Amino acid sequence: MTVTDQYADLVVVNGQLHGTGNASAAPTSLAIKSSKIIALGDEAVESLIGANTRIIDANGGAVLPGINDGHLHFVESAVSQHGTLSVGSQHAQSWDEVAAILQAATPANDGWIRAHGWDDVILGSGGPEYLYGLREDAPVVAYDQTGHQLLLNKTAARLAKLENHTDGYPDGVVGTFADGSANGLLVDAAVELAGLVIPQLSDADVRRCILEHQNFLHSLGITSLTEPGLGPGGEGLFGGSSATRSLRLLADLAVEEKLSLRINALLLFSSTGGANAEDTRTGLASDLPSSLSERGISEDQLRIAGVKIFADGIPRSGTAWMSEPYQTPCGHTHGSMVIIGDTDAARETELHRIISNIHAAGLQAGIHATGDATTAAAIRAIAAAQLADDREARHYIIHGGFSGAGDLNETLKDFSDHGVGLSTNPAIRAEAGALMKTILGADRFNNHQPLASFLDAGIPTNIASDAPVTSPDWRESIIAAITRDSTAGPAEQQDAQKIDFAQALAMMTSMPAWQDHAETRKGRLEPGLLADVCILEQPVTDDIYALRENRTAHTISNGNLVYSAG
Ligand SMILES: [Zn+2]
Repeated sequence: MTVTDQYADLVVVNGQLHGTGNASAAPTSLAIKSSKIIALGDEAVESLIGANTRIIDANGGAVLPGINDGHLHFVESAVSQHGTLSVGSQHAQSWDEVAAILQAATPANDGWIRAHGWDDVILGSGGPEYLYGLREDAPVVAYDQTGHQLLLNKTAARLAKLENHTDGYPDGVVGTFADGSANGLLVDAAVELAGLVIPQLSDADVRRCILEHQNFLHSLGITSLTEPGLGPGGEGLFGGSSATRSLRLLADLAVEEKLSLRINALLLFSSTGGANAEDTRTGLASDLPSSLSERGISEDQLRIAGVKIFADGIPRSGTAWMSEPYQTPCGHTHGSMVIIGDTDAARETELHRIISNIHAAGLQAGIHATGDATTAAAIRAIAAAQLADDREARHYIIHGGFSGAGDLNETLKDFSDHGVGLSTNPAIRAEAGALMKTILGADRFNNHQPLASFLDAGIPTNIASDAPVTSPDWRESIIAAITRDSTAGPAEQQDAQKIDFAQALAMMTSMPAWQDHAETRKGRLEPGLLADVCILEQPVTDDIYALRENRTAHTISNGNLVYSAG
């Protein structure tokens, strides 16, 4: 060992360090060598500064573990942000404005006009009246910001032969006008009708979007994420951005050492409706689950974590399965799961089969469950799988956050008894609060997402953006989790489910690292852990809304400086 070997490659000084685990005195500096944090604390770090050590002065700004978004549709976000027109709320506040953007658009080389981001919470449900008759010269597809719905114009609807499906579609909706003719709206499983006719973007286009979006996420301070759902089930979703080839493109970038985000991928074998054990078995038996290890890709960079299952849909389309009924635009309903099967019991049996297959394959199940009945059914299925083989699979519920009437403790016990985690979305609650309150009632809304109780019960819980459903800016998730304010109004002063900054930060750093089976390697600022760091321009203060303006100054991933504010 030569003398220079003892010095750090990079040190961060004058910082307000967070997420340092058990460090007693609050350190203001950390040192990095190669890919790891090697020291914390002022004197220890100072002694590691050599002639070639790069010094980053944090100027008193907060220094956080690199942000890990435990549920962020990365490739879909990349393509929607960098490869399609935006008709999101920042660009269009009415259906008239959405229509104007589409009317003015130039079709892509393949003749299609693709747009993304409409939000019926903001725009109302009248989309088809505005878009169906829009321009005959080009097929138009406009995806909503949740990925669960899309609108086609008449030209596109003819290509997709929607008139053949107006009598109903299994686990989905083909929207109709009052006269029964198709109106271009496709919901849940029916979105695949559009997927069949919309040409996919080229590999080169998707790759460009991925690289641009990686830079964008680094500029926010994000260093890790879970990409929840790539595979054959994603072929028909959002222009194929969630298809198998997206995983191949990510793997190509990893092999070329151009991937600096750490990505945990869930495979998607069935679409947003119609999940079934046969698809799961076929997918697990394919060469997809082992496709990364065969290419020698580091698990800390890109790994296949498990399988995503859409067990139900969302409350506003009546596809969340709840123990108590709720009010949707289409009536009063308990909803039901979107898994194949004619009865609740048959669907639950199928869910058991799906999860036991995933469990037996040594993978992790991420189960999309918005309704409390779906959450309970999913945990029963997990319990059965764990009974057969009690390994630490870390299966988890995606979205979740509702309990059956009055029995939160039972729900918490279900999670902790079976080692189940929760990945939930405070920013969705904040944005959709007014609508959720209308659909689900004040009680159910107020008790939704009891993060403090989940933490008290020791349940591994992470908060995630679900981008592109909400902004990938993690600050919004943190602010929403801490304040519990929403479009339904400010939270009550004494709302017992508010959490503090350290807890919210853990839910976007160390807790999602648990979900990744990587909590001993990342997620905290501690010697020996991977050097993933997010440095903000300002310290974090009690005025949590100020976090919104506290920009990222530098982002370090795997010991490399991957972003610095210009
Ligand atoms: Zn999602």
